[in-house]
Amino acid sequence: MKRFLTKLPNEFKVPTDAVGQRMLKEYGALFVARGGATPPNTVIFKDEAEVSLYQSGLAKASANLGGFKIELQAAAMKNLKDAIAEANSNDLTITPRGADSGKRNYSGTVTLWASRVNPGLTHWVGKGKLSESEASRIRSLSPFEQVPEIFKLESDKMFFSKDLSKSIVYSVAPPGTSQHLSMLALDVSEHDNSKVRDILAGHGWFQTVVSDLPHFTFLGVPEKQLSGLGLKKVSDGGRAFWLPG
Ligand SMILES: [Zn+2]
Repeated sequence: MKRFLTKLPNEFKVPTDAVGQRMLKEYGALFVARGGATPPNTVIFKDEAEVSLYQSGLAKASANLGGFKIELQAAAMKNLKDAIAEANSNDLTITPRGADSGKRNYSGTVTLWASRVNPGLTHWVGKGKLSESEASRIRSLSPFEQVPEIFKLESDKMFFSKDLSKSIVYSVAPPGTSQHLSMLALDVSEHDNSKVRDILAGHGWFQTVVSDLPHFTFLGVPEKQLSGLGLKKVSDGGRAFWLPG
């Protein structure tokens, strides 16, 4: 982690709270992105206004990809288009999974968060592991306030990922922390194909969130430079993920 911290931009605010530190560990590779990328200088955006202010200052590009209008930072889009061209010349495709596969806004991350938290609370009440009154109390909190509460339940083995077997952070990002807010992330339909992953990696797009299989992050450097940015390779299910090391 030491080298990684030295590679962060000068204006980056290193979190001192437990949630922020966990987010930096799980999603933090993004913050050392190079190659014309402008990563956020904070781990957690607090509201829509903060996200809009950041996104409005970025060099952006949009394109119709696979039938969806996708918006990304300009450098990320240019390299993605180069990857798509290389894939096409090899009879492969690289397409987004849906309309929200590139840029998201704050409210989009709140909706996704709730789509895991609410069914998860219902599930754990049904299993008798959580009281209905405790579940209602958590439901009534703001999304921002829910994050430490959900992490606390997960430390008691009540998990909130889609299949309820692991942490929610491997299914959806806590509100305000999604890499999609930075416009440096894309969810790819063909993520299962190792040739597609290799082509994306050749253009600066890597996997940086363990277990989020369709999710790619623009880091803007060749693979051999990633360890120099303080990132370590984590192999999982035959894939390489790059995390702050
Ligand atoms: Zn994603």
